[in-house]
Amino acid sequence: MSVEFLSADIPNQGKESLQMIRCIAPWKISCAVVGLVFAFGVAVSAQDGAQQVEVRLRRDEPLRAMDALQTVATKQQLIDLGFDLARCGHYPANGVFRLEIDSEEDVRLLNENGFDVVETEDPGLRGGLIETSYFDPGEILTMLNQTASDHPGITELITIGTTLEGRPIRGIVISNNPGVDEDEPAIQFNAQHHAREVATSHVVIDLINRLTDQYGIDSEITDWVNNYETVCIPMVNPDGVQYVFNSDNNWRKNRRPNSGCGSGSGVGVDLNRNYPYLWGPGCGSSSSCFSLVYRGPSSASELETQAMMNLQDEYRFTIATSYHSSGRFIDYPYACSDGSAAGRMPEHGIIHEMMVAMAGAISAVDGVTYTPFTPVPFGGVNGDDTSWYYAHEGVYPFIVEIGTSFAPSFSLVPGIVNRNRAGWEYLYDRLGQARIDVRVVDHLTGLPLEAKVEMLQQDAANILFDTGEFDRFSEPIHGRSRWVTEANHTYTMRISKSGYQTRTVDVPVVNSPVDVPVLLLANGVSLGDEKQDGDVDLADYSEFQKCFDVAPIQTECRIFDMNADEAVNFDDLGEWTAALTGP
Ligand SMILES: [Zn+2]
Repeated sequence: MSVEFLSADIPNQGKESLQMIRCIAPWKISCAVVGLVFAFGVAVSAQDGAQQVEVRLRRDEPLRAMDALQTVATKQQLIDLGFDLARCGHYPANGVFRLEIDSEEDVRLLNENGFDVVETEDPGLRGGLIETSYFDPGEILTMLNQTASDHPGITELITIGTTLEGRPIRGIVISNNPGVDEDEPAIQFNAQHHAREVATSHVVIDLINRLTDQYGIDSEITDWVNNYETVCIPMVNPDGVQYVFNSDNNWRKNRRPNSGCGSGSGVGVDLNRNYPYLWGPGCGSSSSCFSLVYRGPSSASELETQAMMNLQDEYRFTIATSYHSSGRFIDYPYACSDGSAAGRMPEHGIIHEMMVAMAGAISAVDGVTYTPFTPVPFGGVNGDDTSWYYAHEGVYPFIVEIGTSFAPSFSLVPGIVNRNRAGWEYLYDRLGQARIDVRVVDHLTGLPLEAKVEMLQQDAANILFDTGEFDRFSEPIHGRSRWVTEANHTYTMRISKSGYQTRTVDVPVVNSPVDVPVLLLANGVSLGDEKQDGDVDLADYSEFQKCFDVAPIQTECRIFDMNADEAVNFDDLGEWTAALTGP
């Protein structure tokens, strides 16, 4: 048994929020209007072994979304009854919870404990399937192909994996030098980890269209394409989406057949519970294949998850954004934290700043309010992509829950897309502001090094990476490690590598990117000692003279770059003179 909170019905958010709960197929009783309460008396489907229902605590006043304490208590009551908890950024609207039942016994249990089994419906989805204006997997491929052929100079089609059913997971790179690994920040946008969240791919396709169509026309967009590498994966889970179109508009997982779990709800893995960080029991995922939030047999067991992880390996994103629905939220990582300062991600300050600003940018478009959101009071999520991005990969991650249902009436999609455009535009703007770009090279050769890069302090305050984060390393092609930071602070960075002398540098950041070349000196090498004969002496001086003020610095001159600024000049002469030892 599992429980999933439903989408929020938050007041004052416009007509889009009116209908968000819908009939779940296969369903044995006919759909009814929102709020109608059933005496559940029908047989549970034998075909599935499990059936999804929605339940509401029976009380005089409806439980409002704001009744946080009551909501938490109700959640705990369901857990105590044996239903395990799960959610996907969905606010428990009006005390309605979604859970799976296995038997009539479960229904009796719920009724006896004061819960009514409720069935509701989104009229926009009557007929059971998806409005055809939404993109199916084939249409996504057609659009990506068309964009690549219309804009060959700034795009590259990529196939990051193939699903169990043989569908390509395709994406597009947008850059002024596509196919070249440039020394630029990479930013990623993905949608549809969850199949039924069909409006989300439209946000990413809009981004692709804007960046390509406006290149060379809009100066800001032109800069983004020239200065960053953008990678978009508009449909992470095409097998699931095809199933949404063909068979079940409420399908969420991928389509992995799970042995012994049948052909109904026992199929599939929740891809956004399958990532390695905190994968397993704990919060917000289930070990039952029948659950909507089944985490899979092992971490990163799914081809789609592996494809996304390999993509990260290749591009080393600085920012990654996953679009989900529903709710109008930007979700905090860590999604399974207890919300305490100790459980937060170490760089909470920067993520908080960006979430607030991103939500503000979206909300400013037409007054529809998006808010930063923490799932902490509602049980949390584990195995999600954003927590993995941050903890294991050092990527600044965002989940945006774009609308108030999985598949709103398509007439609402242009508004959703337009609003969220302001959100991703903000991320591009922010990427160009306070940031530390460490570049680690071997002092003598100038060649990039893969070295451990740590952030020790912000101003005088220690930053503790003690919640399961992996060490961060500069990437091997350019030696880069990029950190988005808060403005007007000084950060202390430590760079180390086996066989080299560790360096610690203070980096003051105002409000623009700071390039920080870090030259690591191999153990046993003495700077200034060109002959490496054990002392800095006049025998080295003639070589020093040849290197003086030669720009750019020549490789053989790097040993005279005493102050590690990749130039040999008066500053170095002073230090060299001070190092003189011999006759
Ligand atoms: Zn989702």
